[in-house]
Amino acid sequence: MKKLAALFCLVYALSACSIVPLTGRSQLTIFTTQDLMPLVKDEYKESLTESELVTSTKEGQEIVKVGNKMAEAVETYLKEQGYDSLVNELEWEFNLLENEEVNAWCMPGGKVAFYTGILPFTRDETGIAVIMGHELAHAVANHAGERMSQEILFELGVGSIDLAMGQDPTLTQELLLLSVGVASELKLLSFSRKHELEADRMGLIFMAMAGYDPREAPLFWGRMAEDSEDEGLLFLSTHPGHSKRMERLNSLLPEAIAIYEQRK
Ligand SMILES: [Zn+2]
Repeated sequence: MKKLAALFCLVYALSACSIVPLTGRSQLTIFTTQDLMPLVKDEYKESLTESELVTSTKEGQEIVKVGNKMAEAVETYLKEQGYDSLVNELEWEFNLLENEEVNAWCMPGGKVAFYTGILPFTRDETGIAVIMGHELAHAVANHAGERMSQEILFELGVGSIDLAMGQDPTLTQELLLLSVGVASELKLLSFSRKHELEADRMGLIFMAMAGYDPREAPLFWGRMAEDSEDEGLLFLSTHPGHSKRMERLNSLLPEAIAIYEQRK
């Protein structure tokens, strides 16, 4: 029992409460983006070899262009708000992969991939910005680190104590490996509804900050929903219900439009 108490003390000493930019929500995190980066770099590199990289087409270049433009706007905002150390942790990368799946994802630290299958839905740069904003938000809010921290606290609670009981001072790394085992693959990490809605909200504001019309967001999700009998469902199934999402986006639009109009 003493051992258990000591471990919990250690875990809580390692964990910290941080504030999510823009939404102001406090989150408990054991793993910072920096902790996750060695794993992310390997896994991202590997993901890029699994499908053909599309760099020479107009769409391939648009993904990079929109990504860079939005990252710049996001970083400017974060610096204004005093999140300089977070900015230093982010290592943006944007790629388009040949894959018919209707999907896009972002690994911690801002390593983004779009699949060609989602392009019929995004249609143009503004459509790409809808998804890009949402994906960048997951990275900025360190949803992966938070999710993995929750997993590990849950695991510890149900008895996988021995695995985490390293006698050396690398407890964070050990906890991280255990947590990755739970999460399996970073790109397939499914987020909670709370995280998805938070990413929607942040993404909408981010696209406006970068000069993309946020009114495109509900239109984009409408196109995805229309096609939900088809492959659009794949992406939507890991994400919140369509009507709830549209309702939320519409209620957030006035704030985003104001930012967009100001930047024009
Ligand atoms: Zn998401």
